[in-house]
Amino acid sequence: MTSSFPASTALGYPRIGPDRELKRALESYWEGRSSRAGLEETARRVREDTWRRLAALGLEGLPSNTFSYYDQVLDTAVLLGAVPARYRHDDDLTTYFAMARGAEGIAPLRMTKWFDTNYHYIVPEIGPDTVFSLDAAKPLAEVREARALGLETRPVVVGPVTFLLLSQAAPGSPDGFAPLDRLDDAVEVYARLLAELAAEGVGWVQLDEPALVADRTAAELAAVEAAYGRLGRLENRPALLVASYFGDLGDALPVLAGTPVEAVGLDLVRGTAHGVEALAGKTVVAGVVSGRDVWRTDRDRALAMLLAVRERAGRVVVSTSCSLLHVPYDVERETGLDPALRERLAFAEQKVAEVADLAALLAATPGRHLPGHSAPEDRPHPSRVRAAEGRAPYAVRAAAQAEHLKLPLLPVTTIGSFPQTGELRRARAALAAGEIGEAAYESMVRAEIEQVIALQERLGLDVLVHGEPERNDMVQYFAEHLDGFAVTRHGWVQSYGSRCTRPPILHGDVRRAEPITVRWAEYAQSLTSKPVKGMLTGPVTIVAWSFVRDDLPLREVVFQVADAVREEVGDLEEAGIRVIQVDEPALRELVPLRRAEQAAYLEWAVEAYRWATSGASEHTQIHTHLCYSDADEILAAIDALDADVTSIESARSRGRVLGAVGAFPRGLGPGVYDIHSPRVPGADEVEHLLTEALRTVPAERLWVNPDCGLKTRSYEQVEAALANVVEAAARVRERLFRDVR
Ligand code: GLN
Ligand code: ZN
Repeated sequence: MTSSFPASTALGYPRIGPDRELKRALESYWEGRSSRAGLEETARRVREDTWRRLAALGLEGLPSNTFSYYDQVLDTAVLLGAVPARYRHDDDLTTYFAMARGAEGIAPLRMTKWFDTNYHYIVPEIGPDTVFSLDAAKPLAEVREARALGLETRPVVVGPVTFLLLSQAAPGSPDGFAPLDRLDDAVEVYARLLAELAAEGVGWVQLDEPALVADRTAAELAAVEAAYGRLGRLENRPALLVASYFGDLGDALPVLAGTPVEAVGLDLVRGTAHGVEALAGKTVVAGVVSGRDVWRTDRDRALAMLLAVRERAGRVVVSTSCSLLHVPYDVERETGLDPALRERLAFAEQKVAEVADLAALLAATPGRHLPGHSAPEDRPHPSRVRAAEGRAPYAVRAAAQAEHLKLPLLPVTTIGSFPQTGELRRARAALAAGEIGEAAYESMVRAEIEQVIALQERLGLDVLVHGEPERNDMVQYFAEHLDGFAVTRHGWVQSYGSRCTRPPILHGDVRRAEPITVRWAEYAQSLTSKPVKGMLTGPVTIVAWSFVRDDLPLREVVFQVADAVREEVGDLEEAGIRVIQVDEPALRELVPLRRAEQAAYLEWAVEAYRWATSGASEHTQIHTHLCYSDADEILAAIDALDADVTSIESARSRGRVLGAVGAFPRGLGPGVYDIHSPRVPGADEVEHLLTEALRTVPAERLWVNPDCGLKTRSYEQVEAALANVVEAAARVRERLFRDVR
């Protein structure tokens, strides 16, 4: 049963394809432009290329089942037969994509962020009556496919505890039911899976349990013990690697150590080797090459760590800290980057080569300690957090702004972006390729702004936006205009399904050389007498959606960005912009997984936001925008941002947000238009949502807006939807006046 674990491995690999081949194949299949066979062929090629490449780079332990048509958590639901009846279809791929993307009249499963990454997974639904049944076709097929290439692989599956902890209770589940209640039943399916894989001759299986690096209750730890006790005692099974990542196992480490699994994966970049002695007798899969950043690994530091683990625990395998899903493919393709910077960078390919190198180095180092190197420690850094002078109290500001802005009750606004037309995107590409000049591009952007302003005036919105036509992306745009950032050409990272982002690289001190958004906002304001909202991305979000230098504490980097945003806020004010929105949709994403670290994070994150915005006068209305509906977790922090108006996603979850934030003591715009869907909400529906909102939010503080930016929608949808939103607001306003009279 226990063949020894290969000397080097990676916990997972990107799967969208180096040129986003899978993205294109998926989208063409969804649009009916290509066949299933075409999609499958592209997928097969992506897998083949990956395995061949990993082997060529010298990696010994190759993972399989890390490919996905959409998401690995969704794949696990399918593997366990946990497919809600409403999505079932004769064709398995149709069922699969219905869960991910919805089907005729059926909303998709919820999607949410994968721990503290910008990757989103599909949230499975598990109820008391969910019938688990094994469907091992996918992992088996991948094992066979690799074997046909002459390569042995280790199937990777989300482990039972993490799978159930990430699932939500199916609608109609009784109060108090939690998916983890179904652990025993789910584990039986994993047991059958292991038997099938053993029968296939598979030597090792990797079960991913990243949920174990967050705080877990005694009952949850008991679930870990039960699950891996049961699986470990199976007669007929492959050897088991339980992989943790994104932090320290903490209390879960001794629990796993006490189970009969053969190997445990530790994230030694974000976590430590604390307590590793407990794993003596097992194999430690030591994640010393970061899967979360783009920097080359400090070889001496990594080797010292590997030697320390070997001394304390015995068998050590060199690995990545987590799947490489979160980094781009290959830095060699970034020929436009400054060579000095490129030398400091490692993407997935380079990281795999580093793993292989370190494994060779470890094998060649007989001793215990590396002379001259002690186990790594964090370098202390002086903190330079700037304390924001408070603005005047909210009530004082609200009065000043009412006077200054003269807005109606229930003002209608949008979150910033208007549809990005293909014409604009093509023009931006042409500009980058030098096919058109700066002036031609500028005049296109201006023309777009003119249209967006005219449209909003025609529709009767109250606080207008310029529509963000100049921005490819709310973070990349600022990165391109700030010193200290570099942007890549091919550095795509999967965000969800076929969607990818190209995170900028924050590599040096951040500085704003000159105003970034002012001329666009100023131009838009010159076209209308209504207030135009200046539109900025907040410091936490800019940092969260970039790859960030690791030689400074994150806090310090965020404050550098906050400095730049603060300067921009000042310049917008000076240019006569009376409303300024600073978006912070990633505020929650960076919340540490361990509760003990959360308060400190929220404190500096809020402080950075306040530093960015508190230079504004009391007449200037500061808005913020957050994209998620479960704001309740960090409501106190959102309040502490001290913005005058907060807009938040709400349309899809109906009352949920309002239950939590109804008592919010500032301006609040719960979204009344779900922009994630092509559907146009009717005026009655919006009126109903506003009426509901008024039960908890006083009319003087209620704002009317969509859930998020309109960038991904068409003009046709947006015009119709906004017309209905404006009409609904007018009806409710009318009713409020009638009631007063
Ligand atoms: N202002 C941005 C937009 O409207 C906000 C996007 C976001 O919250 N993700 O596009
Ligand atoms: Zn948003």
